[in-house]
Amino acid sequence: MRIFGKGFNFSQDGPGNRLVYHLSGCNMRCPWCSNPEGMDMSAGNDYTVDEIVSECISVKPMLFSGGGITFTGGEATLQWEELIKTLSRLKECGIHTAIETNATSSRLLSIAEHVDYLIMDFKHFDGGILESFTGVHNRQIKENLEALLKSGRQVHIRIPLINGFNADNPHAFAEYFSGLDTSNAVFELLPYHEYGKGKWRTEYKIKDGFVSEETVKEFHKTLTAHGLTVINT
Ligand code: SF4
Repeated sequence: MRIFGKGFNFSQDGPGNRLVYHLSGCNMRCPWCSNPEGMDMSAGNDYTVDEIVSECISVKPMLFSGGGITFTGGEATLQWEELIKTLSRLKECGIHTAIETNATSSRLLSIAEHVDYLIMDFKHFDGGILESFTGVHNRQIKENLEALLKSGRQVHIRIPLINGFNADNPHAFAEYFSGLDTSNAVFELLPYHEYGKGKWRTEYKIKDGFVSEETVKEFHKTLTAHGLTVINT
């Protein structure tokens, strides 16, 4: 498994204290990406499944408050074979697992079967706009989301709010979600930030991505009014 970064955080990428692995490579090209150094599959170093599992076992005492291991990216599902092997081994060891994904993989449902906690991005309801910004349409993302919700499994849906991209129409988001069974879903709003801007080696193309507090409140209010559960982590 190729990994370009790892570190602990508390409750930001799944419940409790977690060791988070950043898997190399991403199929999207979001111009606001905060980990551009990991977009390319050549970034990072290779580790065997055994090495990862041994490390996870060695940090078990650190995974307190219902914590565990999270695989993010880049896009973790690109390395689906090793990811599934690692998730299965961790489950056998009684270690809680999570993935954080852009949800574009056609294999997401089969990967999800091995995961305790699933976090997925939903960046835009309009496939054409999503594709024009990131290079990837939302067809597969919607298909995955709808199948996951239908199966009744827990899904944590993250919406990055970015001025000039998706922050002007909370109603369209809410209307799309409210047509689905979201009884096991929670939603998190992620206002635009520029923590990764300094890591871009090519031109940083977002000029004014920040959203106001009112915009975040408006999204919160609109989603809640449609019966959706909005959380803060
Ligand atoms: S999907 Fe995530 S990791 Fe991939 S480019 Fe977009 S923000 Fe970066």
